[in-house]
Amino acid sequence: MSAVARGAQADRRSVLPSVDRVLGSDAVGPILGRYGREATTAAVRAVLEQLRKELQAPDSGLDLSDEAIAARLVGELALRHAPRLRSVLNLTGTVLHTNLGRAPLPEEAVRAVAEAMRRGANLEYDLESGGRGDRDDLVAPILSELTGCEAATVVNNNAAAVLLALNTLARGREVIVSRGEQIEIGGAFRLPDIMARAGCKLREVGTTNRTHLADYAQAIGPKTALILKVHKSNYAITGFTSEVDEAELGALARERGVPLMVDLGSGALLDLSRWGLPREPTPREALANGATLVTFSGDKLLGGPQAGLILGARDAVARVKKNALKRALRVDKMTLAALEAVLGLYRDPDRLALRLPTLRLLARPASEIHAAARRVLPAFRAALDGRAEVSIEDCASQIGSGAQPVERLASAALVVRRAGSRAPSLRKLEAAFRTLPIPVLGRIAEEALRFDLRCLEPADEAELTRSLEHLAT
Ligand SMILES: *Cc1c(COP(=O)(O)O)cnc(C)c1O
Repeated sequence: MSAVARGAQADRRSVLPSVDRVLGSDAVGPILGRYGREATTAAVRAVLEQLRKELQAPDSGLDLSDEAIAARLVGELALRHAPRLRSVLNLTGTVLHTNLGRAPLPEEAVRAVAEAMRRGANLEYDLESGGRGDRDDLVAPILSELTGCEAATVVNNNAAAVLLALNTLARGREVIVSRGEQIEIGGAFRLPDIMARAGCKLREVGTTNRTHLADYAQAIGPKTALILKVHKSNYAITGFTSEVDEAELGALARERGVPLMVDLGSGALLDLSRWGLPREPTPREALANGATLVTFSGDKLLGGPQAGLILGARDAVARVKKNALKRALRVDKMTLAALEAVLGLYRDPDRLALRLPTLRLLARPASEIHAAARRVLPAFRAALDGRAEVSIEDCASQIGSGAQPVERLASAALVVRRAGSRAPSLRKLEAAFRTLPIPVLGRIAEEALRFDLRCLEPADEAELTRSLEHLAT
């Protein structure tokens, strides 16, 4: 760079106002009022730094007026203060999507959580006696009503429930598990690892495809603490297979005086075949079959908040609650407020599919989803005019979160295909939908961007249509 050019550049840089000048300008007054001095000052520094860089380009022709700087400042602050956790439209075709927060909660739960957050709550306070209460007592009675359990406790998630129950009942001793049930669920939850963390020794029995009652019976010895049955939630073993059902295992456990624990994973509280859905084992059945403890998630088929439920015999649950780990894994008042509200809906099974979003979405008939597809199709076509073709096709939704991995639910999708080779790529289109005011998430498969409309609630259709007006590709 010549001396003259260097001089010119230094000149341009010196035209940048100081931080104090920007903060004192009339245009920045309202911004200061909105975001406060500290955040605004930090953003002014960032904007000036950005301008300094841009000024290095020859002939940058930058507008350095107070108004132009204020406009940049507003953009910078809006970006910095935008919430990171956003609500999205899950049109992926997986209803209980772990990455998207699993179960959407019913209004009853949303209201209960807001109420519990706002002021103090009787989380561990007995309003009758005026003495100390137990947070589990907020939901244990209704869980007992819905499942027949003697006692119940709630922790952070089902992984925590399994860890805590194993650590309580089997630390330093053996847990008998079938080789067909050595599960891994989404990366970090691997049964053998959890077992090790809980301080138990895994005693595997049977083979991957076949395990018999005699395999369990022969493995029981003086070191046995527990028989564990894990519901195969995210895979199926088919072909030449055999597993021991819960009732047989329960009878064996009782006969030999060894507790049986069942990790149900999904934890459907009711028989879902009533709504035309695949049958899932329920906690009530597991307990009736002789399980001492049953564990399951709150945010899978139950349709509630993230939580791990541990239900079962009074003395076993009491031991779990006395474990020092329980304190580290317990849930807060918001979770309990949401859970109590969701469980309350189960008292009226006849209206459950209307009131519980998870069940409503899972039980939604394909004809209704097709009708929704026809209603929003014009908005998709308008938004993608000339760049892509949109059509309605049959598709198959998954329940997700490991529940019923093989079963599919008939549904309808809006399928977006590129209109000619000069049209934006599917990746670009997919990204454009992700950056909408309410991000719309689909999935790319077989040369098309697919939006399964099962989880588009009628109440969200107008919002989606409005959002699509911002689609830029
Ligand atoms: C999902 C699942 C878990 C883990 O539950 P989280 O609530 O996700 O912690 C454990 N066991 C089984 C069988 C599951 O399906």
